[in-house]
Amino acid sequence: DIADPLVREKLSEELEFWRQDDPLAAPTLRADAGGKALPVLAPQSGKRVGSWMPASERDVDLAIARAVAAQPTWDAMGGAARAALLDRASDLLEANTARLIDLCRREAGKTVMDGVLEVREAVDFLRYYACEARMLFGAPQPLPGPTGETNLLRLHGRGVFATISPWNFPLAIFMGPAAAALAAGNTVLAKPAEQTPLIAALAIDLCHQAGIPKDVLQFVPGDGEVGAALTSDPRIAGVAFTGSTGTAHAINRSLAAREGAIGTLIAETGGQNALIVDSSALPEQVTRDVIASAFQSAGQRCSALRVLFIQDDVADDMVRMIKGAFESLVIGDPARLETDVGPVIDAEAREKLQNHVEEMHAEGFPVWRLALPTECENGHFVAPTIIEIGSILDLDEEQFGPILHIVRYPVGTMRQVIDDINATGYGLTLGLHSRIAETREFVESHARVGNFYVNRNQIGAVVGSQPFGGEGLSGTGPKAGGPHYVTRFATERVTTIDTTA
Ligand code: NAD
Repeated sequence: DIADPLVREKLSEELEFWRQDDPLAAPTLRADAGGKALPVLAPQSGKRVGSWMPASERDVDLAIARAVAAQPTWDAMGGAARAALLDRASDLLEANTARLIDLCRREAGKTVMDGVLEVREAVDFLRYYACEARMLFGAPQPLPGPTGETNLLRLHGRGVFATISPWNFPLAIFMGPAAAALAAGNTVLAKPAEQTPLIAALAIDLCHQAGIPKDVLQFVPGDGEVGAALTSDPRIAGVAFTGSTGTAHAINRSLAAREGAIGTLIAETGGQNALIVDSSALPEQVTRDVIASAFQSAGQRCSALRVLFIQDDVADDMVRMIKGAFESLVIGDPARLETDVGPVIDAEAREKLQNHVEEMHAEGFPVWRLALPTECENGHFVAPTIIEIGSILDLDEEQFGPILHIVRYPVGTMRQVIDDINATGYGLTLGLHSRIAETREFVESHARVGNFYVNRNQIGAVVGSQPFGGEGLSGTGPKAGGPHYVTRFATERVTTIDTTA
């Protein structure tokens, strides 16, 4: 519990230790010998924290060939043996928690609190999918049939999976899909986001130390071009992608264009997440949850709240309270435990968010922006912002940062609110603050979203208990960390035996 002063003190000590020791201060990740090293820059300071080399075309080609060769043995090992290795990897990740939290901060600009949650989630993913491997990939399942015949159903890996991940969960979403693919008997080419290759490299190294063979799980660092080289190769049986909706479309096209291969795409993408508040909601609870949902992780969570709908007869009071809490947000260095809002990932993200705020302002929408402290001058910080708009449909795309939009809706127009939310085409998270059971039932049955949060914040996604994922433009499902996820990485084979022969 990070709120416990003793835990905070211990954590601070450990982080200080890693800062002094700095074993990863300037690691260089080797890919192709002739390659050019690229710097990794800390979002909060612009300082170099390490360097890496993207995989070359030849690296990708060789990695795929090795993964193809290793897959049948890995698949034949069975679920229990694979689970033992995944469990060992989870133990090693857990033992390296402080080091991983520190890399989350330096490379992705995450606060300590976010780093703690990130490592926890990665460890939980490994353990959960290890359990699934034991349960689903053991003895074959007998199926009913006529006398004199036995039918057996077995699950196998599909082949080689490319897992392509975003920078905003550089450890948890880098490890989660890879672990699921491995659990199901696939070999894996794991491509991190180009902004966060260092923590991914450490995670892969720990998995190899745990005994997962090097050809079974390979590290393929690179940008979108390297991603495209993976997805266009017909030797890849499937892609597990998490990132923007636009990139998912590109991957879909790339898989479809391959001759001689039909691929599987598991995609977790963006959202236009809303929260609806009616007059029965408790204002203090709403305020707390709005601030956490919109501004934690500098709004760089796929689940983050983007559009708050408030019933207009309570909107003035509610907005006043939310603005009061908003003004007390602490912005700055993510290394300090009191920081609420750290930087956004890079200059490109900052510019896109700032342009959005300028455009909305120019169009005449009321805008409230916090002042940035001077310590933020050298980093990629975006001032937390609230914008009042007329409709969720005034927004054309996801704004992936600390920007909250507010829409006031008249009493009795809940149907229109839901229609507008559905009309965005996204379907990731939706929140509702209401104490009226009929309202909850109405929203639950009409909104097309993957995760629905009632009278709480939208910072969900707990492995095993809140499986996470969207529908529509937000993803293909099934939900990560849920009971149906691993099977999507598997293929079913049925053996029929004539027992009278
Ligand atoms: P992105 O789409 O820019 O990049 C994601 C990954 O795709 C990176 O590794 C990138 O190198 C790779 N890539 C880019 N172009 C490619 C191509 N043509 N072919 C193959 N790979 C390619 O996304 P991002 O900016 O890193 O991440 C933020 C986005 O991720 C947001 O939209 C957010 O909502 C979404 N996200 C969704 C979830 C979820 O569970 N639904 C979770 C986290 C993030």
